Amino acid sequence: MCGIIGILSDQPAAPRLVEALKRLEYRGYDSAGIALLEGGKLERLRAPGKLANLDAKVRERTFKAGVGIGHTRWATHGQPNETNAHPHASGRVAIVHNGIIENFRELREAMEGRGRKFVTETDSETIAHLIDENLSNGLKPKDAFKATLDQLRGAFAIAAIIEGEDDLILGGRRGSPLVIGIGDGKEMFLGSDALAV
Ligand code: GLU
Repeated sequence: MCGIIGILSDQPAAPRLVEALKRLEYRGYDSAGIALLEGGKLERLRAPGKLANLDAKVRERTFKAGVGIGHTRWATHGQPNETNAHPHASGRVAIVHNGIIENFRELREAMEGRGRKFVTETDSETIAHLIDENLSNGLKPKDAFKATLDQLRGAFAIAAIIEGEDDLILGGRRGSPLVIGIGDGKEMFLGSDALAV
């Protein structure tokens, strides 16, 4: 069980996401990553191994995005490599997930049957595709997210961001912890524990 952080702010989120992930290191992890809405577009940076590897990648660039999600992964489905590291993306959606989606095989097979291409070995990628599919079917972001949670079996904490929705982070949990932090002004946070936020 590893770590999730989400930040919605008017200050650059990237350094704070990495900082928060460092505070979640005690929970154990094998890879880490962040996703940002940079200039309205999804950007993902991920790295296997220690957080220093991710930190080095993030420091290579200057990100302005105030909205982002971060994750430290403890692999349950798929190798601990960069491809399988969270956040996972599909279309306009990026997600981070802690826990296990027990019915991911049937969900994945059904979506592959509808022409969706999966790129990871994880159970978690299913979540990104489900949200994206629900959006494509015309649901509004919150409804698409809620409909996705209703389709999942297992234990999870999930945070999601959506391209075109600069003022929104979606969070949901069942059986795994996820706390909400209300900051000053327009800042909001999601985290696996109070230490992270
Ligand atoms: N089951 C997911 C995976 O293997 C998430 C593991 C976690 O909680 O970090 O990618």
